Amino acid sequence: RALNFNAGPAALPEAVLAKAEKEMMNYQGSGMGVMELSHRSKEFEEINERTENLLRGLLTIPDEYEVLFLQGGASLQFSMVPMNLLEKGSTASYVLTGTWSEKALKEAQKMGNAAIAASSKTANYRFIPSTSEIDIPAESSYLHITTNNTIYGTQWHSFPEGLPIPLVADMSSDILSRPLNLSSYGLIYAGAQKNLGPSGVTVVIIHKDLLKRSKPGLPSMLNYEVHAASRSLYNTPPTLSIYFLMLVLEWAEALGGVKQLELLNKQKAALLYDAIDRSDGFYTGHAEEKSRSLMNITFTLDQDDLTSAFLHEAEESGFIGLAGHRSVGGCRASIYNAVPLENVEKLADFMNHFRSRN
Ligand code: PLP
Repeated sequence: RALNFNAGPAALPEAVLAKAEKEMMNYQGSGMGVMELSHRSKEFEEINERTENLLRGLLTIPDEYEVLFLQGGASLQFSMVPMNLLEKGSTASYVLTGTWSEKALKEAQKMGNAAIAASSKTANYRFIPSTSEIDIPAESSYLHITTNNTIYGTQWHSFPEGLPIPLVADMSSDILSRPLNLSSYGLIYAGAQKNLGPSGVTVVIIHKDLLKRSKPGLPSMLNYEVHAASRSLYNTPPTLSIYFLMLVLEWAEALGGVKQLELLNKQKAALLYDAIDRSDGFYTGHAEEKSRSLMNITFTLDQDDLTSAFLHEAEESGFIGLAGHRSVGGCRASIYNAVPLENVEKLADFMNHFRSRN
């Protein structure tokens, strides 16, 4: 198998792929593959419920929160959040920490008043603003943050607490990578295709009190309350993606849960940050140290032709997906939960050898 460092869709645990392959023709003796099951069948109802319960267990989600499995990716949540949560005459507040938060803000601006509560844009998004720098306009409906910035390789490590308004978080690229104190949040959303499974399903975790904000006049498919009332079965759900999500959550549970995953993620990230920090300036990390991501490690080499040579030789050696996002260039290694430690060790070795050769 390839040494896959793609940013998303990304590597899945091999055990998950193997189990899915085994069940593909005949799910649990039904004589049908998962994709062939009716979404109203007993078998799929069980998959839906088990997936929700596994997520509740892993992230310690209390009963006051609904768990929804939606479609449209995290990008649709950029619109659904303000459509449902932005109250009349009020402001939607955003902390800008990268391209995805900019996109979220842009969609909110189409729905009503939206404001920037803090930003690190002038520093090319090298850091996460400290919580004391966040200036929330009066009469805000919520504060939106992006907990991990996939493109810039930065991640929030301390969070606004005790806010008088709901905190909303895009956790697309770091959900399930570490324990979560859900009580700080009103709503969390995440596209699945990094830490949770294949693309096609988006997880939304929403405090039940916030469901009251969804106006009946909204299109049903864009209304959180409609999806909550029908347990994410308002229309045909992405059954195959939900099944894969279940397998990934089973895998995460068997591994020891989010605390264990966090330990592993710290170990993996340290290998690459060490290769950068001990390179005498041969590699430069994009993120400031205090804001470094454990999921996406971004770095540059000081000459363009060296970057091309690095990427070329890496590919020849079997490493996939190391080019930085087209908007920032350089290199990026995405090391989500499913990327094995030994693959990261191989990449760190490759980085050290490339440096000594050049
Ligand atoms: N938010 C973050 C942090 C992301 O990394 C991405 C995709 O990479 C998105 C949102 C967009 O997700 P989707 O493609 O599911 O709409």
